[in-house]
Amino acid sequence: MDNNEKNQNELLQDKIFVKRESSWKTCSESEEAGIFEFCEEYKEFLKAGKTERLCVREIVKTLEENGFADLHESKAVKSGEKAFVNFRNKAVVAFVAGKDPEEMRIVGSHLDSPRLDLKPFPFYEDSDIALLKTHYYGGIKKYHWVNIPLALHGVVHSKDGRCVELSIGEKEGEPRFIVPDLLIHLSREQLEKKASKTIEAEELNLLAGNIPVDDEKIKEKVKFAVIKKLYEEYGITEEDFAFAEIEITPAGAPCDIGFDGSMIGAYGQDDRACVFTSLKALLNVNNPRHTAVAFFSDKEEIGSTGDTGAESFLLKNFAIDYVEKTDAGIKAEKLLERSKAISADVTCAMNPNYKSVNDPSNVSYLGRGVSVEKYSGSGGKYEGNDASAEYMAYIRNILVENDISWQTGELGKVDVGGGGTIAGYLSRYGMQCVDAGPCMLGMHSTCEVSSKADIFSAYRLYRAFFED
Ligand code: MN
Ligand code: MN
Repeated sequence: MDNNEKNQNELLQDKIFVKRESSWKTCSESEEAGIFEFCEEYKEFLKAGKTERLCVREIVKTLEENGFADLHESKAVKSGEKAFVNFRNKAVVAFVAGKDPEEMRIVGSHLDSPRLDLKPFPFYEDSDIALLKTHYYGGIKKYHWVNIPLALHGVVHSKDGRCVELSIGEKEGEPRFIVPDLLIHLSREQLEKKASKTIEAEELNLLAGNIPVDDEKIKEKVKFAVIKKLYEEYGITEEDFAFAEIEITPAGAPCDIGFDGSMIGAYGQDDRACVFTSLKALLNVNNPRHTAVAFFSDKEEIGSTGDTGAESFLLKNFAIDYVEKTDAGIKAEKLLERSKAISADVTCAMNPNYKSVNDPSNVSYLGRGVSVEKYSGSGGKYEGNDASAEYMAYIRNILVENDISWQTGELGKVDVGGGGTIAGYLSRYGMQCVDAGPCMLGMHSTCEVSSKADIFSAYRLYRAFFED
């Protein structure tokens, strides 16, 4: 018998066992080149959209360049037409109207990422240094944020009614900011502390200046010099900061990781990986049967709260406007109920350095394709969405029919931890919803790592879903 010929059991095994392998293995040379090309654009997007505001700006710019009109400015929207709504520069809903406007395919992602925000009165002076106090946003390991160059992005509305945009630390030659860690020589006590306490929230203070003003009449000389500089350059005062929105992010551009450049290291991939891929999917949708909707939400990292978070009635309010403009003969509530959704968010990849936190059979692996997860949550699936078998079958058909690399997994072993997504805020309308997105290493860190293959397969799933 030929050694290469499979025996009966081997043939049966191919049929009854699931294949779990790297999607790089099955991809042709030209497909691989396509994936790399796609991810160059993704890296540019990450670089330009470091905060939710900047990300919305990129999205709106891209939408307008591709023929999407502001829904509130358009009279009536016909099948095939493209429009969007920008919610206070913090969240966006964009769509391509379908031949059947009475059903939608919604891909919902989130624009915000964990970061440091400035406190209302951030400026103070200590040891001849001007510093900025911060208040962290979302789930961070505080020790990630020391000793790395940081950039400042934000919006200040001055008393005289000007809107000043600040962006310092991204461009070549611009100064950056840093939280200095304690030197190893004197760290004996610090290193005895629990990791959650080695760097405390109130120690996350940024270096902001060191040159004092030469005036004996001024008490806080370095703080004065720093605010004076801001006043001269931007016309803003210390009081203006109390009403501003200033965010601190890691500085610098995304990079390729590994000798083969197969991975991407970048801040903010949770969840701009899904923002970018669903945006690209929407741009490439052609005359869809159902209305294709990309929903980019804010504040997921702090519980989807606020006027631009997915917990608000933003999507419902959009549906009301949509029904009016498209002349869909259906109520907004019914439209949402009969629509289908993907909660597009990143998930945990198996980390070879920390394998014990995951069940190796039920975790996603870098490079095996988009991860489709029936449920998220923690403990006994608390706060999870838990999609039905019928809906899972529907999603599986899309994956199989379009030959999209996929995998599945859970966010860690049962009872080890967990996490949520916006899935629950989509399904509350009665629409079916499932979680699906690329897996990451070092999620919520200052440099998260994704696989280019997974980014591309997430894009392919969202696009096929829109075109279903
Ligand atoms: Mn997320
Ligand atoms: Mn997150």
